[in-house]
Amino acid sequence: MLHCGQQPVKRGENSLKIIRLPATGCGHFIRGRCLYEENLNPGYHQGYRCAVLEKLQAFYDSFLTQADAFGLEESVACGIWEKRFGELCREDTGCQDHKPDGMNPFPGCQNCLEDVCVLKLPECLGRCQNFTPKSRG
Ligand code: SF4
Ligand code: SF4
Repeated sequence: MLHCGQQPVKRGENSLKIIRLPATGCGHFIRGRCLYEENLNPGYHQGYRCAVLEKLQAFYDSFLTQADAFGLEESVACGIWEKRFGELCREDTGCQDHKPDGMNPFPGCQNCLEDVCVLKLPECLGRCQNFTPKSRG
């Protein structure tokens, strides 16, 4: 069965190859990848998350537990965290695919879309049944 946007193209006598129309006008399309699942259930797919931000979150959680265990006052804990975070920002992220971008917040990576890593999204193979025209304005 063909879905909207697919066109059958005849190849020889008995075979058909499906060629999909370009999906650049789709609201879920981003740099050759598909955000449909993420837009449908934001945050649900752990595999889409930026590994560097996940590591930072785990680090922050463990810091909070330690601060709590030591009974640190909030202002002291905040000061320590700010210092540690400043150091982290200067360290190598450890991600081989990190593409520096001074305009984005930590981890300052062009592949980072909030906490999603664009490289981890499924590839868009062309217009599919979930195609949604980009909204204007
Ligand atoms: S056309 Fe389909 S696969 Fe491509 S970005 Fe849109 S929803 Fe995703
Ligand atoms: S490429 Fe960028 S967005 Fe993706 S995991 Fe690495 S740092 Fe995060």
